[in-house]
Amino acid sequence: MSPRARPSRSPRPEEPVRQEDLRPLNLELVFRHILAAGQPISRTELAAATGLTRPTITRITEELLAGRLITETGLARNGRAGRPRVGLTLSASGPAGLGLDIRADGLAACVVDLGGTVRHLAFTPFRYAGRAAADVLAQLAGMTRAAVRAGAAQDLDVVTVTLAAPGPVRDGVVRSAPALGWRHVEAGALLHEALRPLDLPVMVDNEATLAALGELYAGDDSLGDFVYVSGGLGIGAGIVLDGRLMRGARGWSGELGHTVIEHDGLPCPCGARGCLQSYASLPAILGGEPAPAGLTPDVAVTSRAEAGDPATLAALDRAGTALGIGLANALNILDLDIVLLGGSFSLLASWLTGNVEAEIGRRVLTAAWAPVTVRPALLGPDAAVIGAALTSVDQVRRQPSAWLTGGPRARLPSVS
Ligand SMILES: [Zn+2]
Repeated sequence: MSPRARPSRSPRPEEPVRQEDLRPLNLELVFRHILAAGQPISRTELAAATGLTRPTITRITEELLAGRLITETGLARNGRAGRPRVGLTLSASGPAGLGLDIRADGLAACVVDLGGTVRHLAFTPFRYAGRAAADVLAQLAGMTRAAVRAGAAQDLDVVTVTLAAPGPVRDGVVRSAPALGWRHVEAGALLHEALRPLDLPVMVDNEATLAALGELYAGDDSLGDFVYVSGGLGIGAGIVLDGRLMRGARGWSGELGHTVIEHDGLPCPCGARGCLQSYASLPAILGGEPAPAGLTPDVAVTSRAEAGDPATLAALDRAGTALGIGLANALNILDLDIVLLGGSFSLLASWLTGNVEAEIGRRVLTAAWAPVTVRPALLGPDAAVIGAALTSVDQVRRQPSAWLTGGPRARLPSVS
C-alpha cells in the first residue's frame, strides 16, 4: 500500500447534531443531574441546572419515570416562590446490578439498586481444594438465580452480572488464578452457560480492582489516591490515582502478590520464588497446611490468633512484615497516601497493621514527612462483591437511554 492510499488522519468536517441524536444526550444530562443531586430535585431545579426548557424536562422525566429509573418522592420541597414542588429521585425499584465474588472463605453474591444501596447479600462457605472451576461456577450460578429472585421480590430487575475473580482477567477469561489452580478459565462464558435459561450478560473482572471501586464508591472525598490490598488465597491490589482506577496497559495492574520480597525465596504457585503471596496469603499464614475440616482459612487463622496460638501469631507477624515490604515497594513508585487492608486482611488488620506501618515507615523514602495511613477497608470482606454489583448497575447509570430502549440487552425474562 502506498503512503497515499492510507486513510486520512484529518478530522471529518463538523456535522450538525441531528434532533434525534440530541434526545438521548439530553436524557442522560437530566439523569446525571438527578444522580448527582443526592436528594430529591424538582423539575424546575432541573430546568435551571440543565438549561433545558420546561417542556423538554417534563418529557424526559416522564420517560425516566416510565422506565423506573426515577421516582416521585411525594416529598414537597419549597421552590423559590415558596410553592411546594414534587421531588424526583433515583428509583428504589427497576434496574439493579448483581455482583459475585470468589473469596478465600467462600462465595458471595450481592444485588444493589440504582442508588447503590445493597438490597441482597448472600454468602456460602466453600472449600476449593480438589474442586474444578466448573464446580465453583455451578455454585455461583445457583447463588445468582437466588439473588435474581431476591431482587425480583423487591421489584428489582437484575441487568448484568459481574464476577470478581482472584487473578488477571481479560474478555471474561481468568488468565491465571494460582490460588485456585485456574489457568485460562473462560469464567464469563461458562457462568453465562450455567445460568441458562436465564440469559444475563456476564462480565468478569479482577477482585481487587472491583473492591477498590467499591471502596471508592463507599468512601468520602478524602479517598483519592490509594491502594486496596486484598488478602485471601492470594494477594491482589487495586490502585486508584486521582479518583480513577489505574488498570495498566492490558488491564492487569495490581498483582502485588507476585512482587518479589525475597530473592530466591519460597516457591510460589505461579512458578517464581520469593513472591509476597508465599509469605502473607492465608495458606502461607496457615503454614501450607489445609484449614481444619469445617473451617475456612480465614476463620481458622482468626480463631487461632484470638486464642493466642504462638505459631499463628508468629506467622501473622511474618506476614505483616512481608506485606509492609511489598507495599513499601509499591508506595515508593506510586506515592499513595492511603493503604486499605481488604479481603481477609480486613479481618486480620489488628494483627497486621503494626508491622505494615513499621516497614512502610522504614522503607518509604517520603514517609518521614508524608505519612501513609494504613487501615481496614470500609466494606470489609464484602468490598469486592459490592464493587462488582455496583459495576453491573453502573452500565445503566452511564447509559440510561440504552436501558429505556431495551438495548443493548433485553430485559430479564421472568424467573420462576
Ligand atoms: Zn508468584
